[in-house]
Amino acid sequence: MPSEVLVLPELPEMEHYRQALIPLVAGKQITAAEVERERTINVPAGVFAGLVVGQHIRTVERRAKHLLFPLANGYALHLHLMLGGSMFYGTPEQKRDRTAQVTLAFQDGRLLYFHGLRLGYLHIRLEAELRKALGKLAPDPFDPQLTPQEFAARLRRKRGTLKAALTDQAAVVSGIGSCYSDEICFAAGVLPIRRTAELSEEETSRLFGAMRTVLRVATDGGGYMDMPLYEGDTHTGAFDARCAVYDRGGEPCVRCGRPIVFDEVNSRKCFYCTNCQR
Ligand SMILES: [Zn+2]
Repeated sequence: MPSEVLVLPELPEMEHYRQALIPLVAGKQITAAEVERERTINVPAGVFAGLVVGQHIRTVERRAKHLLFPLANGYALHLHLMLGGSMFYGTPEQKRDRTAQVTLAFQDGRLLYFHGLRLGYLHIRLEAELRKALGKLAPDPFDPQLTPQEFAARLRRKRGTLKAALTDQAAVVSGIGSCYSDEICFAAGVLPIRRTAELSEEETSRLFGAMRTVLRVATDGGGYMDMPLYEGDTHTGAFDARCAVYDRGGEPCVRCGRPIVFDEVNSRKCFYCTNCQR
């Protein structure tokens, strides 16, 4: 999709960002923090800079659609891009021609720009408090303790449509939104408009497998958010061209050729093939 269209990053986009950012910023010291829009952060700009400048970023972690940048002082930056947020890393000369709500500078002259953080935010919080708050989310789809049985039990407990269950961040798993819930249902051959209570054990097992495969392939493919993270980056967003059903209403199904159906489920866009999915 064109980069002007605002997109909502999901697990693959944020996991791709995490993996791409670690070699760029982990272990680096922040030398300056510039705040263009104070509503993007959660404390006055001076306090923000005081907590961040001089600190080393220990690593980059992801929880659901959130990124955490733990600092050496016990605080952590908490990024949620929401709708329209993105990042760019590079020199001031390479900077994109758009406003950055927050910019972090490093000792090597590189900067990390946070763009489009209007609904999204970059907060600074005590790391322990932040981890506790994010602990309320449902398990990560790749949580090693999440078995197919536990996944099925959580699905059945969440009454309603499969689409609503997969996209509820506190119910079954966290990190999945409109795009990947449709892709997962297509890969599993199950209609997203089905009621969770009527899914068979075989179908929940297929959904579990499809969830991990789709999210892994999309992450490795750079996610669907077509905005380069650094100059010359062709990996970020490369998965967009490979979505099978999402945003492809009316186009021929990649498997059977029949038109993809565009529907609305609980006021969310929903795409599926009535021939390949049951
Ligand atoms: Zn089909």
